[in-house]
Amino acid sequence: MSIKMKILLIEDEPDLAAIIQTSLSRHQYVVDWAADGKTGWEYLIDNRTTYSLAIIDWMLPKMSGIEICQRLRAEKYTLPILMLTARDRMEDKITGLDAGADDYLVKPFGMAELLARLRALQRRAPTFQPERLQLGNLRLDYGNNAIVIT
Ligand code: CA
Repeated sequence: MSIKMKILLIEDEPDLAAIIQTSLSRHQYVVDWAADGKTGWEYLIDNRTTYSLAIIDWMLPKMSGIEICQRLRAEKYTLPILMLTARDRMEDKITGLDAGADDYLVKPFGMAELLARLRALQRRAPTFQPERLQLGNLRLDYGNNAIVIT
């Protein structure tokens, strides 16, 4: 049985977003893409139980990745966040992690490293789970805390 993990990617560079989306979809991920911070924020807030993880670029139009992290954490949203950025100074990494990111990946990066970091986040995040899990005629619906017999 394979379970698809749904990820939200918030990245304003279309080429990079396409590469990430293609690479991840070859593994066990389904990737939604938002091209600016405000759209990404709305996806996250409107689909609270949908995403298992978010990959968020730092520099984004309309709302920065840092601001998204801060707002999510202020709302007690525990979704694991991997921050993408071209900023590699130690102070920037500290800012990113303090804003609520769980991990930090500096551009340019290899897809193999991105995948490894996603696996690591997946291992250690207790909230990383599919929205629904179907076992025969039994469905565990995590989003609604329900067990449904189908
Ligand atoms: Ca950017």
